[in-house]
Amino acid sequence: MQWLITLVFLILGIHVTLQSPDGWGYTDKHGPKTWEGICQLGTRQSPIDIVDDDTLEADLGPLEFIKYDHLYNATVTNNGHTIQVALKGQPLLSGGGLETNYQLDQMHFHWEAEHTINGYRDPLELHLVHYNKKYNNFTTALKHENSISVVAVLFEKSEVDNKHLQPIIDAAKQVSNWELKSKIDIDVQGTVLPTLFIPADRTMYYRYDGSLTTPTCQEIVTWFIMTEKLPVSVSQVSNQLVLTF
Ligand SMILES: [Zn+2]
Repeated sequence: MQWLITLVFLILGIHVTLQSPDGWGYTDKHGPKTWEGICQLGTRQSPIDIVDDDTLEADLGPLEFIKYDHLYNATVTNNGHTIQVALKGQPLLSGGGLETNYQLDQMHFHWEAEHTINGYRDPLELHLVHYNKKYNNFTTALKHENSISVVAVLFEKSEVDNKHLQPIIDAAKQVSNWELKSKIDIDVQGTVLPTLFIPADRTMYYRYDGSLTTPTCQEIVTWFIMTEKLPVSVSQVSNQLVLTF
């Protein structure tokens, strides 16, 4: 009977993880090719493959991560598409040619990076999503031009665990089934020091004008892809495959 129980569990598991709360996802049936409107018709859609030979060198100054070196309480939510981390505090992004400060709204992960560099795809990508501080919140910012700035951090495979990621992964495990637990915020054990998720070299990055990478794909995002990568172990990545949609 053991095999039967295992089989039923697997089928249930697949069913659960392929559900989408708002009609879009990453499977063939609901994947990017089926996303509508500007997602198909836009002219600066993200993500992209960054080809070094096609880039221009420029000195825009380093990215400045303000109050990223403070400790924050944080919660983790499964929104049906990704694991999202919200800090109870207001770190800011500046520099990099930005004209003003951008406030961190949330950070989330993509298992299997979205951006590739010269065709190479890393196993994990972190997005730190900021909005122009002159708007009251992320939702208001969405209605304006170039109002969002996302810092992308790529994680490369490592032999050893990234211990800074582990508290978030542990909390994420508790929300890995959104049908049962969506909209539930799980507290991250201890505090989060966001600077630990930013590479040491803040002077080297790729910058381009792009879009949100999920519906409704608004073309309002200034992207910064950090050149230096952070480590993640194979087991830390494989633990999270069940969370992708
Ligand atoms: Zn993202």
